[in-house]
Amino acid sequence: EQLQRILEQQLSFVVRETAPAKKVYGPDEVRHAIHNGELVNYYQPKVSSRTGEVVGVETLVRWQHPVDGLVFPDQFITTAEQSRLIDDLTRVVLINALKQCRGWRDDGLDLSVAVNISMNNLNSLDFPDFIVDVARTAAVELPKLVLEITESQLMNNPVTALDILTRLRLKHITLSIDDFGTGHSSLRQLRDIAFNELKVDAGFVHGASQSPSQRAILRASVDMARGLGMQSVAEGVENADDWNFLLDLDLCDIMQGYFIARPMPASAMKDWMQEWEMRRHD
Ligand code: C2E
Ligand code: CA
Ligand code: CA
Ligand code: CA
Repeated sequence: EQLQRILEQQLSFVVRETAPAKKVYGPDEVRHAIHNGELVNYYQPKVSSRTGEVVGVETLVRWQHPVDGLVFPDQFITTAEQSRLIDDLTRVVLINALKQCRGWRDDGLDLSVAVNISMNNLNSLDFPDFIVDVARTAAVELPKLVLEITESQLMNNPVTALDILTRLRLKHITLSIDDFGTGHSSLRQLRDIAFNELKVDAGFVHGASQSPSQRAILRASVDMARGLGMQSVAEGVENADDWNFLLDLDLCDIMQGYFIARPMPASAMKDWMQEWEMRRHD
């Protein structure tokens, strides 16, 4: 009976956490959004753990829906990935991000810009050349462009995808492995493709001070990154507790999360930067 009660409690918790189901948009709606300029790039800062300096931003796509308001990627990225619309989506996001990166540089802000790419983007052999063209047009040096690919997608590695990653790397584009710890890439892949950056998934970062097992995985990931000559990023630094804990242990090179800043439109960056300068010198 007691077991029954516990199970029911847990079940109601699960139901509460997952409901209400969010709308997932279909391919026609997503196509319309991409081609009518309804996608907007938001940006979340990445800061150096050592100095607190802003080293770059990650762009996170939003859909400014005319009726439904601001729509988040979990409601349309999968649709795009399943329908090849992801090629156009990624291109739009990349072009916007690189233009913005150039704009910031003209304003005296030297930031790298990270773009999330999907494994499906790595089917097109012309993807590296496309990127080089866009970067050249925007006059952004290729190492300033960071491409983030999730570890779970890396696991399903068609040979062409690995080939394209290698070509991107040879063009000196920065490659980052995202959500590390949630997939299981082989260590050989990490070595062979020569990723530059490893982002430890938020699930091992937020709350690490309270959890020895999270901490162990976090520490092992960071050690491995260092051993392979990669920068390590802690994502999901959500509160002061997470921040202080990571700083005390001197773990990751770079931090990202709500505690530092939420993703914001490009227009909000300047004000945020000023605010951050004050915060970090406090
Ligand atoms: P991601 O690349 O792992 O991005 C991190 C997500 O965590 C973002 O959600 C971000 O807003 C959120 N986040 C940042 N800091 C914190 C924190 O401290 N606490 C918590 N709880 N969350 C935090 P978002 O923007 O909803 O994006 C979700 C996912 O959608 C991204 O996960 C990425 O996989 C995908 N995505 C976003 N933009 C693009 C894109 O342009 N192209 C592709 N292919 N995927 C994208
Ligand atoms: Ca990412
Ligand atoms: Ca991530
Ligand atoms: Ca993620």
